[in-house]
Amino acid sequence: MGIDENNSVFKKIKNDNHEQIVFCNDDKIGLKAIIGIHNTVLGPAIGGTRMWEYRSDEEALKDVINLSKAMSYKSSLAGLNAGGGKAVIIGNPNIKSETFIKRFADFINDLNGKYWTAQDVNMTTQDIIWVKEKTKFVVGLPKEYGGLGDSSAPTALGVYMGIKSAINHISGDSSLKERKILVQGVGNVGRKLVDHLLKEDAKVFVCDINKNNINLLSDKKITVIEPENIYDRHYDIISPCALGGTINHNSLKDINCNIIAGAANNQLENDNEIPDIFINKNILYIPDFLINAGGIISVYHEQIGDIDSKKVMDMSESIYDKVTSVLKYSDDNNLSTNASAIQLAKNRILENSKK
Ligand code: NAD
Repeated sequence: MGIDENNSVFKKIKNDNHEQIVFCNDDKIGLKAIIGIHNTVLGPAIGGTRMWEYRSDEEALKDVINLSKAMSYKSSLAGLNAGGGKAVIIGNPNIKSETFIKRFADFINDLNGKYWTAQDVNMTTQDIIWVKEKTKFVVGLPKEYGGLGDSSAPTALGVYMGIKSAINHISGDSSLKERKILVQGVGNVGRKLVDHLLKEDAKVFVCDINKNNINLLSDKKITVIEPENIYDRHYDIISPCALGGTINHNSLKDINCNIIAGAANNQLENDNEIPDIFINKNILYIPDFLINAGGIISVYHEQIGDIDSKKVMDMSESIYDKVTSVLKYSDDNNLSTNASAIQLAKNRILENSKK
């Protein structure tokens, strides 16, 4: 009897060439997790752990495959000597406890530094501190625990520089003065981005479903847009800084802007058709994994033991040049910006795999 190809785990990872997928199980405490190590050519795989109530193991596997691959591309493009990995824990975050998290940390420790974890969706700072008590292979720790702390400042700086590079690409001028910019989601990153934009006298519009976060900006010169009216007007730039998936077939019917450039991970509903819609609508899209690298730049410095916030900010500032390079490659090769970023990330991994 041959292998049922449709259910083959190896088939699921074949095209992306993942190095290792680790299934972690402890029936006694109900721990089910998957660690995806996509590529370690450039260095150890770094990427956060997220906990989610997936509807099936298959959905969790798909998520970890996509997320770990994106981390490889993000680190490669940012010029870091780090590979791509991610972990997902399956289940309701309410079942977490110190024992549960520390058991998960044992599994990370078993990998002996091939995978380094960090905080992601539904993982708290306390969880990361518990992980640290069991393994050294964890980054994104608070300053008092030897880490570089909250990475939203370098992330916001990188997004700001990426926006400037994009506007320079289409207008020959990187100034944001009088540019109409919508920041969708004014959480930790979005609010810091708003500050950068206001310093340049941009016309800033903000939208958030959480009124408390909008209120934190009450002393700023901004225009608040209600979520139901978000795409009712033209913007020079839309900066998605909320959750993933906001750029989809439905929203693109209404979106009217020149540039999309923001911090949110996985902004595009899919990588196949959406970039074609951008071309038809003449929208310049700056890939999320290119522009939001400030976070990985920060945790990478922790991983190599270089606790230097200035270096992290300087490197995040250089995202301006990284965006310029991707846009040039896109023009030269008549390739979407998304495909260009992926190609450049893959090229760097390939060059290093030959060494
Ligand atoms: P956050 O949780 O602090 O802020 C997210 C904000 O988006 C919240 O204010 C929330 O109310 C708002 N929001 C959620 N759904 C919305 C909707 N439909 N419309 C408008 N607003 C909505 O998160 P953050 O740390 O600011 O990160 C923002 C995004 O950037 C996330 O997607 C995150 O994964 C990504 N990112 C963050 C970092 C980092 O260093 N913090 C690094 C890389 C990527």
